[in-house]
Amino acid sequence: MPTFEKFIEARRLVICDANAEPTLVGLLEEFETINAGTLKFYRRHGGPMALRLIVVDKWGFNAFAASLDDCDVIGINRGVYGILLATARGVVSQGFSTSQFAGNQSDVAGRTVSGSPKDVLRGIAALDPSPLQDDSQDLTAHRIARVAFHFMLFHELAHLVNGHCDWVGLNRAVSLICEMNDGQFEALEGLERETLEWDADSEAIREILEITLQPHIGGVGGRATWSVPERNSFGTPQDAFKFVGAAISICSAYFGAFDDNDFLSNAPRTHPHPVLRMLSFRGATVQNLAFRCGMTYDEASRFTSPFLEPMRQLNAFFTRDPSVSPPSDIIEIKNARTRQYQHHWAKLHPELDRLKRGGMLAPAQPVAHPAFPTTKVLG
Ligand SMILES: [Zn+2]
Repeated sequence: MPTFEKFIEARRLVICDANAEPTLVGLLEEFETINAGTLKFYRRHGGPMALRLIVVDKWGFNAFAASLDDCDVIGINRGVYGILLATARGVVSQGFSTSQFAGNQSDVAGRTVSGSPKDVLRGIAALDPSPLQDDSQDLTAHRIARVAFHFMLFHELAHLVNGHCDWVGLNRAVSLICEMNDGQFEALEGLERETLEWDADSEAIREILEITLQPHIGGVGGRATWSVPERNSFGTPQDAFKFVGAAISICSAYFGAFDDNDFLSNAPRTHPHPVLRMLSFRGATVQNLAFRCGMTYDEASRFTSPFLEPMRQLNAFFTRDPSVSPPSDIIEIKNARTRQYQHHWAKLHPELDRLKRGGMLAPAQPVAHPAFPTTKVLG
């Protein structure tokens, strides 16, 4: 593997410093500070993990993770946070509301962008970078954007600490995973790659559920249990699911912007189909609550239902519908795909377990939670 210096030089990457990108560099530093307690447990070649978070001087919605000779790297494109924040402002202006915040107070008509997520990333449609008139609306948009940004960082971190990048490097010159194929990095495609993305998504959604629900975390038999408080700084748990739903919907809209493959195509892919991916995010939210709180799937599904609300506001923001109309048997298609991921996960598990940087991977075969052995929820 190349060193950081050689990698940057070979890929002709320009890194933004804190003078050029104070907000983004500040957010990366904040991520490292908040998660310092967790990050210090991750290993690299027997020593502590040497993680570098960098802002790449490039427009567009992209991120990558790489395991290099002398450090691990997470790179985020310069444009990412601006896109997240402008879109979150659009979602808030379209009526996003929580128990603490009524929404739609000043920008009554609601903002729109004249196009689809693809049009935004192609530069055909421009996002409004200005703050919302109402301070509490704008603060809410900032909170959504930060949750979305943390989701992206946790997703990239999972590619590193769960051994995904090192696994890619077993057969390639560079141990690297990139989220959008913009021609800068070679993309690994196929069901194994999709399975790694599915795992990184699962880790990242658990992390942002922890950020927004702020549960009391216990542990039984090495598996975490959650006790969710009735209120926290995000409001009620239902408010937290709205923040998570808004953040994930925005990320999904842009990550899937260039994906035109149909649902049943067997063409090799890098990521799950965007619509299946969004369904998996919803499924993972229900799964986390059911598995870690000892609920039934039905109870968890009802409890987390506000997750879906912000999708309406996001669709109203884009004047060209970003979503593809799913077929009526979409849930069966998604479940069949998940079974394929579970199959590949079990196959990849021994190697990833050897390559992981600490902690525990999700088990090769899902099992009942030791704290709730009588529920039928596996994880
Ligand atoms: Zn990924």
